[in-house]
Amino acid sequence: MIESMPRLETNNSRVISRDSHEEHVIFMNIANQYAKFSKCQSKRVGCVIVKDRVIISTGCNGTPAGAINCCDIFEASKMSDPEYRKLHHEFSNSMECHAEQNAIAKAARFGNPINGAVFYVSMKPCEQCLKLIANLNVKQIYYSSEYDKFIEYSPEVNKMISQLGIQITKINIPDPVI
Ligand SMILES: [Zn+2]
Ligand SMILES: [Zn+2]
Repeated sequence: MIESMPRLETNNSRVISRDSHEEHVIFMNIANQYAKFSKCQSKRVGCVIVKDRVIISTGCNGTPAGAINCCDIFEASKMSDPEYRKLHHEFSNSMECHAEQNAIAKAARFGNPINGAVFYVSMKPCEQCLKLIANLNVKQIYYSSEYDKFIEYSPEVNKMISQLGIQITKINIPDPVI
């Protein structure tokens, strides 16, 4: 009987240890792939929220579910025009949620507690998202790309980050989605 049982895999080199760099790269890649669901014609951002190695929520930037989408109004090919970009910026500010905000909202909708989870975001979180994430008792945030016009966090925000013991780590991955 024992001979007919499948052999257990004993090659430890195949096992990814918890908190290993490889684990973070895997979830970072998933966040980047998830960005492809975004209907924003300017930037595509993906967010994956992970707890105990389980993905408990995902989000991409965009309008609330059921509302008109960025791609229904704007064209990506025209975004190089500063006036057009300005119009999109106004629309985006009032209508589009960031990937982190949508992932948090989705977790709330389905009743998944985020307390103490790990965030993987394809783009570095803005200050608005950062203070929201900080209020979820999240201590680890990973990202792969900087926003092209990203302004450094203010001294107050940097102080909050260190006071709360939040670690924000960049992970370089090949072919990031933007
Ligand atoms: Zn947009
Ligand atoms: Zn944000």
